[in-house]
Amino acid sequence: MNFKKKISESIISWYHINKRDLPWRKTKNSYKIWVSEIVLQQTKISQGINYYNEFISKFPNLESLAKSSDSEILKVWQGLGYYNRALNMLKNAKILYNEKKKFPKSYDKLIKLKGIGEYTASAISSICNNEKKAVLDGNVYRVLSRVFNISKPINKLSSQKIFKQKAEELLPENNFGDYNQAIMDFGSIQCKPMNPKCNICVIVKYCKSYELQNIRSRPRKIKNQKKIKLRHLNYLFICDKNYIYLQKRKNFDIWKNLYELPLIETNETIENELLKLSIQNKFKIKKINSPLLSKKIIHKLSHQKLNICFWKLEGKAMNFFYNKNFIRAHKSEIIKYPFPKPISKYLNEHLIK
Ligand code: SF4
Repeated sequence: MNFKKKISESIISWYHINKRDLPWRKTKNSYKIWVSEIVLQQTKISQGINYYNEFISKFPNLESLAKSSDSEILKVWQGLGYYNRALNMLKNAKILYNEKKKFPKSYDKLIKLKGIGEYTASAISSICNNEKKAVLDGNVYRVLSRVFNISKPINKLSSQKIFKQKAEELLPENNFGDYNQAIMDFGSIQCKPMNPKCNICVIVKYCKSYELQNIRSRPRKIKNQKKIKLRHLNYLFICDKNYIYLQKRKNFDIWKNLYELPLIETNETIENELLKLSIQNKFKIKKINSPLLSKKIIHKLSHQKLNICFWKLEGKAMNFFYNKNFIRAHKSEIIKYPFPKPISKYLNEHLIK
């Protein structure tokens, strides 16, 4: 038996003893595996379990998802971020359902769907269709770079061919889905980024980085200097007895199709008297009270840093907002709307008691 075969067999044996009991491991239904894969692109497994369970209980199959609306799926997705991924799921479901198709399980069909890349198509097709496709996620990159002592940076396009080739070389002769899940779990539990458990590792004798004692420098990653854009969002919390005013985000921007409070975006931090003028100019209101700062937070996204201020606005302005195109939502209905995380947190603290 060559050493690559021994590595994959050892990882599968390790998996049978150590695998985690996860809800999506109990099924080979490609729709459910797809949901789990997209959810897990957003979050850690511990948090992903709740989102997966809630998603499947609300949309147990393709038909129920296809018949839902943007707001319904975004509500379930609330807090996960990357909301376009949820909207892509909805688009795929509607297209497949209208064409009277089932959710596919073959790589060639999966890769044509919106939002499904090589990794997701390989994971679903190997698990649900036993296709010989190797997966490459962060855990697998780490295991491969250590076992084979690959010094090429994992986040460089030119390195991907090398990692893909090594991943394919390790594939066993059957049970490709089990093996793919095994190597991902192995990376996550055993060959961890910090403090890998080399002293109890089942493949230690094949591990080149262990032999060379350079585990800390594997995998290599090039630091990306991301440009972070700073934005200043001023949200107006206008509480009118048991009602508040909301709007739906429509532009091509973060949080598209989610709901928010009336917004004034400024180029810098703004004092309440200046904000008062901005509100008057933007909404063409003559008389309003000065807004009162209620809460200030910093919210970080992958490419943006949001300086968010929530302002309470009381008095005459209410009549104005009542007459404009804002949604006047009753306190008891707020739960129905999908909000970005910072807004939902603020409303939970200030409104929903
Ligand atoms: S010996 Fe250590 S670094 Fe090598 S595969 Fe095992 S856990 Fe990972």
